[in-house]
Amino acid sequence: MRLIPAPAGSGIVFRRSDLDNFEIPATGRNVAKVSYATSLMRQGVLISTTEHLLSAFIGLGVDNVIVEIDNLEVPILDGSALPYVEAILASGVKLQRRKREYLRILKEVEVREGSKFIGVYPGEGYAIDYSIDFPAPIGRSNFRGDLEAGAYAKLIAPARTFGFREDEAMLRDMGLIRGVSDSCAIILSSDGVQNGPLRFPDEFVRHKVLDLIGDLALAGRRIWGKVVAERAGHAMHTALVQRLLRDRSAWELAHRYKDDESLASDADKPLQANGLQHPEGSLQASHA
Ligand SMILES: [Zn+2]
Repeated sequence: MRLIPAPAGSGIVFRRSDLDNFEIPATGRNVAKVSYATSLMRQGVLISTTEHLLSAFIGLGVDNVIVEIDNLEVPILDGSALPYVEAILASGVKLQRRKREYLRILKEVEVREGSKFIGVYPGEGYAIDYSIDFPAPIGRSNFRGDLEAGAYAKLIAPARTFGFREDEAMLRDMGLIRGVSDSCAIILSSDGVQNGPLRFPDEFVRHKVLDLIGDLALAGRRIWGKVVAERAGHAMHTALVQRLLRDRSAWELAHRYKDDESLASDADKPLQANGLQHPEGSLQASHA
């Protein structure tokens, strides 16, 4: 897999180098079936397990990048976003001469399914409030944070995915061989963590936050608002993206040049601002 710089405004695009460079933009329109991981599909071409890499992009402020990959699965690596974050930081990101566009939430959009819930609300920044409730030894846990505070690389990226030993046979049946293994996930059984130590005492909920950020990247633009999730997962995350994108009254496009500026609505901008050159702008990844 290779990360290639992309022009401002092009977004995050997967490119299958094994299939004539077929491109699959990372947008809600291309979400495929979702179970233990998030997959994208366009015209029958699949790219699976996109969430950790997309999370790293959002966490580091990478808006425009081409992900060139020669098979259908984004590497799971250690089960977290840390290897991606380290590679992107080592390579560097470039400021582009264009403002960053945000999807500013104007009213609530919620998805509920039994005891699972996810909603997005108007608010400043990109705030996340995630609650989980799993069988022992995980139990209940909550994490709150604001992505705009810039602590993603330290607080979220290292959190690894997790799975119960008992689910391994089921995951294999589903073709997710890599689903649970010692080197790419925290392995649990009812009596505890099998391959400790944990990287954080609350690593599980932090990983759910990591997944959420990666799945909401499929909205195509950075969220400006507050997200609340309870016992959610990839299916709920992506359902929220699709509901949000469908409800055109729930958001507006807004922009700003620098991270310390307040957002301006795109509706207010003068027409000639479209091609404006500005020294500050959004970020893109270089080679990694
Ligand atoms: Zn995950």
